[in-house]
Amino acid sequence: MNTRASISPVVREISCKTTLNRSSLGAYSMNCYVGCQHGCAYCYARYMQRFHPHEEAWGAFVDVKTNAPEALARQVRRMPPGSVFVSSACDAWQPLETQRRLTRECCRILLDHGFAVHALTKSDLIRRDFDLFADHNARVATTITTLDPAVARLWEAAAGPVERRIALLRAAREAGIQTGIMFGPLLPFLSDSADSLNALFECAAELRVDVLWVDALNPRPKVWESVQSLLRKHYPDLVDRYARVLFSPVVRNAYLAALGERIAAAARRHRLERKLHSCI
Ligand code: SF4
Repeated sequence: MNTRASISPVVREISCKTTLNRSSLGAYSMNCYVGCQHGCAYCYARYMQRFHPHEEAWGAFVDVKTNAPEALARQVRRMPPGSVFVSSACDAWQPLETQRRLTRECCRILLDHGFAVHALTKSDLIRRDFDLFADHNARVATTITTLDPAVARLWEAAAGPVERRIALLRAAREAGIQTGIMFGPLLPFLSDSADSLNALFECAAELRVDVLWVDALNPRPKVWESVQSLLRKHYPDLVDRYARVLFSPVVRNAYLAALGERIAAAARRHRLERKLHSCI
């Protein structure tokens, strides 16, 4: 049962000076929201709470940048066009976007001004915006951490089933939009075996995505608290193993080297080496 999806977040309206930021993930990144209703247990965007402290837990609050389109419209007049990663610190198509439509309006502004939209979402609400993306410089990508529905329900319960994300990529491709998949974070001992990776890459090959990324679970601020709490409840035998993989340099280096080899083998097997970008 999807229990987290039924929790309504605390919503606050805020205003922003800028919507577009320089980013290492593209020329720019854009976030119309602070916080994410999906609240995935492994989410790195939790680090935002260091700069924007909230009483509520990650997933239980969303700040809505109500003037994001107006701020963006000012920015695009003076910034050189480039690719925009949508979004780096939230899911831009989280449920609130259904009514707020801020991401849609900002994507329209970006595309009208010659910027490329590189979307990454777990939500098929993005289908609503395919009309903007088709025949424009846009790419729709989704995150898949595991193909095992039982594992996905624990780690990303509010994000909706993985099958829906796969269907989303099929629909995007049929609409003539470029597609991509982020396999990550790969969960140690749960979604990082040779068999799991083979199934993930087989899925990517079948979908004929244009680009693929892989990433490992990383010890970013605040992530361990959340991961540890989930492990204690559902995988108590893995708590110590995760701690070593994340925090022991020797174990981590060996883990990442072996993971990199398994990823390379799966990519070779499915002839996806040239589309693969590894963050490991
Ligand atoms: S959907 Fe993305 S941004 Fe939102 S909680 Fe999950 S990992 Fe974080």
